[in-house]
Amino acid sequence: MPEAQKTFYLTTPIYYVNDAPHIGHAYTTVAADVVTRWHRQRQEDVWFLTGTDEHGEKVLRTAEANGVSPQDWADRLVETAWKPVLNTLDVRNDDFIRTTQERHETAVQAFLTDLYDKGGIYEGSYEGPYCVGCEEYKLPGELLDGTGEFEGLKVCAIHGTPVEMLSEQNYFFRMSEYADRLLALYEEHPEFVQPASARNEVVSFVKQGLQDLSISRSTFDWGVPIPWDTSHVLYVWFDALLNYATAVGLDSADPERKEQFARTWPADVHLVGKDILRFHAVIWPAMLMAAGLPLPKTVFAHGWLLVGGEKMSKSKLTGIAPSDIIDTFGSDAFRYYFMRTIAFGGDGSFSWEDMTARYNGELANGFGNLASRTAAMVGKYFGGTLPTAGEPTDAETALARVAAQAVADAEAAIDRLAIHDAVSAVWTLVDATNGYLADTQPWKIAKEPGETDESGAGVDGGRLATSLVTATEALRSLAVLLNPITPKAAAGLWELLGAEASLGALDAQPLDAAATFGVLPAGTTVTKGAALFPRLDDTAA
Ligand SMILES: [Zn+2]
Repeated sequence: MPEAQKTFYLTTPIYYVNDAPHIGHAYTTVAADVVTRWHRQRQEDVWFLTGTDEHGEKVLRTAEANGVSPQDWADRLVETAWKPVLNTLDVRNDDFIRTTQERHETAVQAFLTDLYDKGGIYEGSYEGPYCVGCEEYKLPGELLDGTGEFEGLKVCAIHGTPVEMLSEQNYFFRMSEYADRLLALYEEHPEFVQPASARNEVVSFVKQGLQDLSISRSTFDWGVPIPWDTSHVLYVWFDALLNYATAVGLDSADPERKEQFARTWPADVHLVGKDILRFHAVIWPAMLMAAGLPLPKTVFAHGWLLVGGEKMSKSKLTGIAPSDIIDTFGSDAFRYYFMRTIAFGGDGSFSWEDMTARYNGELANGFGNLASRTAAMVGKYFGGTLPTAGEPTDAETALARVAAQAVADAEAAIDRLAIHDAVSAVWTLVDATNGYLADTQPWKIAKEPGETDESGAGVDGGRLATSLVTATEALRSLAVLLNPITPKAAAGLWELLGAEASLGALDAQPLDAAATFGVLPAGTTVTKGAALFPRLDDTAA
């Protein structure tokens, strides 16, 4: 027996509660959901964490501007926006951490105390340019010259707003000591920071040398108190990064949580936007090195979403709400569109026109119509009961080969987090099955002698039966392959294929079951059902 498998553990960033979710956040969360659902379909043990980052000066200022306490502000945003959006997106996370939860704060304090006792933290003073938007001190080389109303001032390259010169008596983390070990990590484990462009950026940043990191603030009190000096609260990023470990049981005394930590840590993938790459690829591993904890396997930075040429990110909240799109197209189409059209890791753009065109062309016509046509023909010629196929010809063998190749290619793509390539690989089977029906023309075979009986019903073992069984098998493969990507449509397809009765739950089908045909037994009841992707009137969208 192999040893108990380590849980595949993937995280999204925890999102800042000072505003409502936009499609930039939704993009990250859906990508995380597709990858974790894929691993679940492999029948692996999976843990998918998301949550909210609730401390810091920015949240405090937003709450004050709204006349409520920061905790009330966070509670309200989490309950009315951040948790509901997961439902809207059809996301299946295993946990939702909030940095104001006791389980997190207690473990953060334990981590700090341990690091302080080990000499990793000291008291000192610091002066430098600080961006409130980023909640971090900037290096002079990271600033731009302001223009327009900010003429003559230095501004943050991300926010475009002036930085403030701050001077503080603070606690510092000895991060400068980790530059060489970090460079060795990037060298020995090129998979630690992905894609390659992100790794290059991080390597050249660290090669300039690292400064110690100021990790406490005494000018406001909305944060985790420093355990040995409660006049200071912990720097929000140091607090936030620890969520990935505290959520799965770091520094918990509870035996069950300890066991969870042993099984889950280190994380396999931290998915992040490229604006927060350095926190995850520099500060976070340095913190873990200092604590003597194992490092995550991969920090993957995806690109910006552009809408009309404007960057959408955590930092520029000029966003479209996910429900704006999902109300029209549905969650499956949202998931499909963003995963298929944007090379994961690069920048991508969204437009209503492109979304509508792909919805109608690929989802409604390409896939949905394939399912309803096939089911309708099984209904028409076999009374909705799957017949027994005859001997396969080259056409059937070729389609089965496409399915096997689609599975192999999609599996490999998911392992390198090329989600777009995985969706494309799955779509080769959609296209090939449409091609197979166009070439085979079962509606013409049905007119040939010997293919139907005197009542017009198809006969077992004929070419008509073979072609419809083969198309149905391709649909069964597609239900399994699409379950992580478009779960609602996949479930609808599984139902119309009548597969639950003979094969069991869709979630329980191993991914490699999609690679072979001949699985659905003859006699299975196939029904046409409602359209999986009803065509949209182009003018309505
Ligand atoms: Zn900034």
